[in-house]
This record gives sequence, structure tokens and C-alpha cells, in this order.
Amino acid sequence: MRLGLAANQLHHAHADAALFRWLRACETGIRELKLGLHAVGRTYDAIHRTGYLDGYASLQRYPYGREGGLMKLVAEVVGLGDRVLNGAIYLIDPVDPSSIFPEAVALKRQCVIHGKPFISTVASARDWIEMERIHGGLAPDVGANGFYALETQTVALIAHDAMKPQMLAYAAEHFDVLSRFAHRVGTGTTGQRLNELAWSLGWPKDVPWVTRYQSGPMGGDAQIADLVLERRCQRVIFFEDPHVARQHEADIQLLERAVTTRTDDAVCMTSPRVAARWAAAVRSRASWR
Ligand code: PGA
Repeated sequence: MRLGLAANQLHHAHADAALFRWLRACETGIRELKLGLHAVGRTYDAIHRTGYLDGYASLQRYPYGREGGLMKLVAEVVGLGDRVLNGAIYLIDPVDPSSIFPEAVALKRQCVIHGKPFISTVASARDWIEMERIHGGLAPDVGANGFYALETQTVALIAHDAMKPQMLAYAAEHFDVLSRFAHRVGTGTTGQRLNELAWSLGWPKDVPWVTRYQSGPMGGDAQIADLVLERRCQRVIFFEDPHVARQHEADIQLLERAVTTRTDDAVCMTSPRVAARWAAAVRSRASWR
């Protein structure tokens, strides 16, 4: 398994920056998984300088951003013969202008299109490593327990129109896992459809399964972003439709960037495949107790 790796400047600027918080928590897991990390120049140099992953042959160096390092990651997420990435970690600082350069936007978009993880926060990166460890049959890392304390957390469920059938199928299949959260929130139409599903599955008729905010184009994404900013929502499962022009593109980006401001606490999943893999990991991890 190979992931692209890049971090905005702030996230490798000092010894306790986000990139290093991730490596401190996950270096063991990275080695256990034999995870290939294809890191753009400055990110690679920062890892090398600090001594993380010392001697780890699966850490590879790509060109600097200005020499096309991030662009190469995008092409490899799409796939070029045997140059194929399974996804990308791009630790975003939302006020770093390079986080909205076309190659950065394309990196996310091609991950979404190809059903591969796009991991933009420390929490998402830690959560992903633990998920893969569990699927690899490794014993739970107690350091990741917080990500599995669903009973204390809120999850947001959002799907664009073309993705609503997939969201409903996902929620039906993983109703047990999603019902463990203390709260579920959603945009207006997605939330309504999910509530109808939950009621059809026996959820009490007078209790909404999902607390509904406005419809996405009417500002629901921005309302849910505020919950994330207030640390009242820890996981966003957002099935985006990357194939259409979206009238509320700014709101969508706003929500995803709100998640990056809570980089240690908030997880965002944009791929149905990854979301399903995560739900399966939640179940198997629970059976380790
Ligand atoms: P909806 O909004 O659930 O109200 O359709 C989703 C979106 O378009 O962001």
C-alpha cells in the first residue's frame, strides 16, 4: 500500500507540528503496515531532518512543490502503469494559499473520483492507520481508543444528490455502527432521507435519527462546519459528487476546511469505500475487548 504525503509549511515548521504529531503517534503502525509513503520534497526533508522513519526504505522522496511534486502525486492517484498511489495524506493549513492551488484541489478530487482516501487532518491520518492495522489483524493501539469512543461523539452525514442512494445503502448496512454515535447530524435532504430509512428500520418514530440542518445549497454545510469549529462534531462522512458543477462549491470547501482547523480532533471521509472499511474496522476492533 502506498500513499502520497504532503504537508503545508506550518505543519512541519517545528518539532511539535502536525506532521510530527502524526508520525509520533503512528510511526510504529506505518512500519507494521509496511506503508509506502511518497513524500513531496519539503515534507520529505522535514521528516528526514527530525529523524522519524530513520532507515525506512518505503519513504520515498518526490520533487519540491514548485518542481511539480504535488502534481506527480495527482497523476499517480489516477494511476500511471505501475506508478499507482492508493490515496494521499495532505495535511492542510487552511490559511496557507498553496492549499487551494489547482494541484491541491485536483489531488482531493482525483482521490474522490477513484474512491481512494484523501486524508487532510492528523486525526484522519491516525484514524486511517488504526483502521488498516485492524484490517491487518493487528491488536488495537490503545493510543487510538479516542477515535473509537463513538458514544461521546457526533457524526455528520452528507451526500450530494447522485450519491444519496449510496449514502442510504451505507447507512442501512452500517446502521449499528452509526447508531452508536451520541448524535448524528446531516444536511436537510440527506437527513430527511436517512431519518425515513431509520424509521423503516425500527428507530422510534417520534425521534429523528439525524438532526437536520439546512439543505446544502441553503447553507447546511456552513452550519455543520460551525459544529466542527466548536468541537461538537468529530467525524464528517461526506459523499461528494465530483462530476457536476456545484452551485455551493464554496460551502463544500468551507466545511472540508473547517475540519482541517481541528486537525487533531476531526476526521473527514469522502470515499464510500473508505467509510465502509472504517465501519467494518469499528466492528472488529470492538470484538477485541
Ligand atoms: P442536501 O445537501 O442533503 O440538503 O441535499 C447536501 C449538499 O448538497 O451539500
